[in-house]
Amino acid sequence: MLIRARHVVPIDGRPITNGALRIERGRITEVGTAKRAEGTPVVDFGDAVVLPGFVNAHTHLELTHLLDRVPPTPDFVDWIDRLQATRAPAKEAGSVCIESARKGMRLSVAAGVTTVGDITSRPAEVRPALAHGPLRVVSFGEVIATGTIRDQLAGRLQAAIDASDATKYLTVGVSPHAAYTVEHDGIRACVDEAARAEMRLCMHLAESLEELRYLRDGDGPMRAFLDRLGVWDTVIQCPRLAPVPFAHTCGVLNNRTVLAHCNYVSDEDIGLLASTRTQVAYCPRTHAAFEHPPHRFRDMLDASINVCIGTDSLASNPSLSVLDEVRFLHSRYPDFNTHTLLEMITLRGARALGVDHLTGSLTPGKSADITVIPLDNDGPTDPLRNILESVLHPLTTVTRGRRVTS
Ligand SMILES: [Zn+2]
Repeated sequence: MLIRARHVVPIDGRPITNGALRIERGRITEVGTAKRAEGTPVVDFGDAVVLPGFVNAHTHLELTHLLDRVPPTPDFVDWIDRLQATRAPAKEAGSVCIESARKGMRLSVAAGVTTVGDITSRPAEVRPALAHGPLRVVSFGEVIATGTIRDQLAGRLQAAIDASDATKYLTVGVSPHAAYTVEHDGIRACVDEAARAEMRLCMHLAESLEELRYLRDGDGPMRAFLDRLGVWDTVIQCPRLAPVPFAHTCGVLNNRTVLAHCNYVSDEDIGLLASTRTQVAYCPRTHAAFEHPPHRFRDMLDASINVCIGTDSLASNPSLSVLDEVRFLHSRYPDFNTHTLLEMITLRGARALGVDHLTGSLTPGKSADITVIPLDNDGPTDPLRNILESVLHPLTTVTRGRRVTS
């Protein structure tokens, strides 16, 4: 099959005007300018831009049902309190998560996303629902074990790394949830298992001021939250460190790790992330909804950190579209390099999730994971600015050479 369009943006090379892409047996075999291709079925998208399928490097598909249920406010702990209050009764929770994950997969594909880094608190139930495509999923099993639920560590970790539901679509990773919900030794255990099994690791880090205070002083609204849950106990040791150096003492900082958020980082923290080749998933609209100070993603990129983009869940964000995330960034930072923005939702995300040998750019040999965005006739002539300044949705999404939306 040959795909043609006004523009092809391979991401690992320069945009091609009147471009074409040859697909054979689910893989890209050729990328270049359109020419006559005798005997090959041709799909011509006309005034459109063909890009690699997008990568949402940090999301929680199982929370898709929470759209508009828990509006974010600057008070982060109040938000997680309200999030807790929405939890379904135990006997329904599994089916709610499964339905949500399925819906999240459909919404992702419709948004041009072909790969996700997905966090699940219920791996045994959610993974089978995501294991047969069409999305490529790196499924991070979430581990929460601190204070009075410290003894859940082994069971949660075992469930997180259980790869029995892995398929050609789904690989398994591990996620110690955050520095306030897993203690030093628990995080270290997750890191050791990830290294042993050569899995990716994802952790929420430096997300809120309340987290910083809890790690530094052991008190404040986060401690009160853990108390309200009946989880805090006197055995918990306060690290008296900022989040990034604390994560470093747990062995988290390395090139298999994706840190979600990193909203509060110092110059020294950025240096540490860069020297350890740790990767960062920035969630722009979630970050903005909580009114954090400006994110330092540009400083991180300047320091050669691999920064990619996540939507986080629909509990804090209006859509699962990473294209919407970079459109938002482009409107806030119109002078920021547009190619880098698109790299952050394609190749950089694939690299963070350890799947850049398979997807993330239109490169011969990679899987034919593609999204097609229509050109806005009233928009700029530059194709990248055109799609970043429009509100048009993807025309179609292709995974492994198969059209999975219209
Ligand atoms: Zn998250």
